[in-house]
Amino acid sequence: MQAMTIEDVLKATGGTLLSGDIHQTFNDVISDSRKVTAGVLFVPLVGEKFDGHEFIKAAFDLGASAVLTQRDTELLVDKTIVKVEDTLKAFGDIAKYYKQKYNVPTVSVTGSVGKTTTKDMLASVLSQKYNTLKTMGNFNNEIGLPITIFGLEKEHEAAVLEMGMNHFGEIEHLADIGRPDVAVITNIGQSHIENLGSREGIFKAKMEMTKLFTKDNTLIVNGDDDYLSKTKGMGEYKVVYYGITNPENDVYAKDIENNGLNGIKFTAVVDGGEYPIEVNIPGKHNVYNALAAICVGREFDVPMDKIAEGIRSFELTKMRLAVEEYNGITIINDCYNASPDSIKAALGVLADTDKNRKVAILGDVLEMGDFAKDAHYNLGKAVKENGVDLLITAGENMKYLAQGAKDNGVENIVSFDKTLEVCNYVKAEIKSGDAVLIKASRGMHFEEVYNTIKNK
Ligand code: ATP
Ligand code: MG
Repeated sequence: MQAMTIEDVLKATGGTLLSGDIHQTFNDVISDSRKVTAGVLFVPLVGEKFDGHEFIKAAFDLGASAVLTQRDTELLVDKTIVKVEDTLKAFGDIAKYYKQKYNVPTVSVTGSVGKTTTKDMLASVLSQKYNTLKTMGNFNNEIGLPITIFGLEKEHEAAVLEMGMNHFGEIEHLADIGRPDVAVITNIGQSHIENLGSREGIFKAKMEMTKLFTKDNTLIVNGDDDYLSKTKGMGEYKVVYYGITNPENDVYAKDIENNGLNGIKFTAVVDGGEYPIEVNIPGKHNVYNALAAICVGREFDVPMDKIAEGIRSFELTKMRLAVEEYNGITIINDCYNASPDSIKAALGVLADTDKNRKVAILGDVLEMGDFAKDAHYNLGKAVKENGVDLLITAGENMKYLAQGAKDNGVENIVSFDKTLEVCNYVKAEIKSGDAVLIKASRGMHFEEVYNTIKNK
């Protein structure tokens, strides 16, 4: 982090200095009391289980140079304490101020699925030409985004920020903090549809990203998406489309060659030129993610050969669709999270394996509200189309998927209520020579299924 003072904090947050020194500097902004080190500004957040305010004294003991508070904190002699209305809001306000003070050209990535993958790919592309800061892992909310921004150092020349949401107003808030010059929206799916009411609602919520856009901003979207393809003319900003179905898209993929688990090759058609692109992770959906990365590289004048190199060499954030081999079993581990769209994508990867028996172990997609029944049922068709030999499900919603699969002609289906029952079942059932997809919403704890199979 670059130099900031308490005076900056007061300006950023509208807070008041309760005690201490307005010229006090700090070398980082930390919200996790366990990560406090000498010289930081500690921002205690109030969570469901913990209240960071309980650790204010401990933070000073660890050498924090200043602390924020939203409570009537006991005044400590010689300590710098700033009172704000809401520490979480202040955390974002300080990030916003810091970002504006030390600004670099910034790309944001949102969308229903593929944010983290796209973020990693396009950061790899930008890194070919610029020293690029990127969101680590999946730090895409109002806590993760400020943490990323505070990592902006003097040597950085560009930033890539993932922004996620599950309700209206969240993207607007994150975009206000991160102020992207260029925004990517990967697709409009059904994630968190319970809170947003419809795909139309999800579209509107994602488009909050453009609220502060002017003619100097660029929106990069998937032109094959029925909602995103209609974004041109919705504002004065520039819109760039990518896709695989329509050669009219600004960046277009043709001659897609799917090499199963070894990845994918395609020809990118960009401004009249044709360029070979290699993606080293499986899944046809990654063509889209690569196209988004090409568009960003193009906006930032990265030469095409460097763009191709960035895509070829990028590294995926862990716990996202990892393909591993244990005891002759190919495990497609995608247990980090699930949405209807990402289940479809992951089934496509299962189909790409060359194993004799393809097993899909799927758990409920949560936060689907009234859409749960239909969304799960409709996935039954994708189970059939991707040649699943054995379908194992856990949870209430997945019973609809099982029914959908049955109605589409899938024969071997076993359904359970709980994840634990799946674990017991797979112990005996999964054998060497199988390919197994493991996927469910986070709340289903499918890492237990993964561990059971891995440790067989
Ligand atoms: P989260 O909401 O958890 O942050 P995310 O949007 O960052 O998710 P990723 O982590 O990149 O998404 O990908 C999650 C899963 O979605 C992948 O493992 C893959 O199965 C699928 N996926 C990735 N990209 C796409 C895409 N462009 N279209 C459809 N599915 C995709
Ligand atoms: Mg993510």
